[in-house]
Amino acid sequence: MKVGVLSVQGAFAEMAAYWRAQGADVFEIRQLADLDRGMDLLALPGGESTVQGKLLKDLGLFDPLKANIEGGLPVFATCAGLILLAERIEGSQTLSTQTLKPSKWFGTLPVAVRRNAYGRQLGSFTTRGAFDGKPDVEMTFIRAPAITDVLSPEVEVLSTFGGRPTSVRWRNATAFTWHPELTHSLAEPRAK
Ligand code: GLN
Repeated sequence: MKVGVLSVQGAFAEMAAYWRAQGADVFEIRQLADLDRGMDLLALPGGESTVQGKLLKDLGLFDPLKANIEGGLPVFATCAGLILLAERIEGSQTLSTQTLKPSKWFGTLPVAVRRNAYGRQLGSFTTRGAFDGKPDVEMTFIRAPAITDVLSPEVEVLSTFGGRPTSVRWRNATAFTWHPELTHSLAEPRAK
């Protein structure tokens, strides 16, 4: 399987290492020409979503990647990657009303998120819990967003923490507020 890892900012090296460990043929997406290589899955790593969104625009990657995602390309997104996919970002200055589509986010995944939702005290923490039928998976959160709302009944919730979804699957996207790629806590990633 060929995996393209968005590598403009953030924890792309960890994401690439994770997919290599799964036996994938991994390449980095840094510029438009990289998309010519074609991929079976797009991986969106953690980092700083606002910076990633801006760089995607500046590099001309935003529109083609969005078209690919909307066209059904499987996407595996963690943390900032989830924020990039979210249809609604709470408290975002960029969105003047909630009905507007985000301009610096793909906005293709029907969930609402709040960035840095766990505050400074709980900026980073690890917990364990059920994920997608696996009873006991390590989940590491780093300045994580929260999924505050699920905007379609088709969204499948794969894990929760404190009563809120922490990973979801919807159509071609699997997205996490935590970092399976850092702890390799999923032996067999379900990124269909
Ligand atoms: N807080 C970051 C953001 O808003 C996400 C943190 C992460 O990816 N580890 O983009």
